[in-house]
Amino acid sequence: MIFLKSETEIDKMRDAARLVSRTLAEVARVIEPGVETGKLDQIAEDFIKKNNARPAFKGYGGGKNPFPATLCISVNEEVVHGIPGSRKLEEGDIVSVDCGVEKEGYFGDHAYTFMVGECDDESRKLLKATLESLYKGIEQAVHANKIGDIGHAVQAHCEKQGLGVVRDLVGHGIGKNMHEDPSVPNYGKAGRGERLRTGMTLAIEPMITLGTWKVKTLSDGWTIVTADGARAAHFEHDIVVREGEAEILSTFDYIAEITKNEILETH
Ligand code: MG
Ligand code: MG
Repeated sequence: MIFLKSETEIDKMRDAARLVSRTLAEVARVIEPGVETGKLDQIAEDFIKKNNARPAFKGYGGGKNPFPATLCISVNEEVVHGIPGSRKLEEGDIVSVDCGVEKEGYFGDHAYTFMVGECDDESRKLLKATLESLYKGIEQAVHANKIGDIGHAVQAHCEKQGLGVVRDLVGHGIGKNMHEDPSVPNYGKAGRGERLRTGMTLAIEPMITLGTWKVKTLSDGWTIVTADGARAAHFEHDIVVREGEAEILSTFDYIAEITKNEILETH
């Protein structure tokens, strides 16, 4: 079931999304060769709690193997859902940081892939194309379009550059729950699927690789890696479907203020 949001609800979602944006910027301040991913996680958790919100990923899934951390930190061939810990980032790594919060009953869920120091040209190409594809998808998230228009735009932009588009994981509705209907695949046919309506709130999140679209899960039960070991990138925004142009609730502006030597155009 798809829940359309009122403007009052959207205001709260914007607050939640912006808190995630500011949390990612706190992480951006300390990303450098030698830093442990667990340290990034602690910084994020402290920052979210200080801002009267709850880290939404921590404990996610429940049961025997709940997600144990505030951030998903996925390095190089890890696509998403990497678990922070004692791993130290190295010069040339790419690191996807995904963060979710619950604030006043509403969720934000948003992600950015950082370069650690100087990265090779292939990695830069991957990050640039993935970020561009996110905005290509968002361009399609307007009233009266279809869900398939979003995925088609992402897929077309990435595949024409020879990149892999992960299919096993998809974007989603978001609101009073972190994951709501509808699913938002990063592939598909234009003009197909659920009709988009003003007030729908979506997390759009292309996961793109330098090789195959196929992925597998590591034995920790969480970390998703590319099946061929190629590097992957992941950018995510929370948006509201509106007439003519979607509103982006989250922002990369805070990251752009901190990340020097950033070759990527941020929005
Ligand atoms: Mg996310
Ligand atoms: Mg998400």
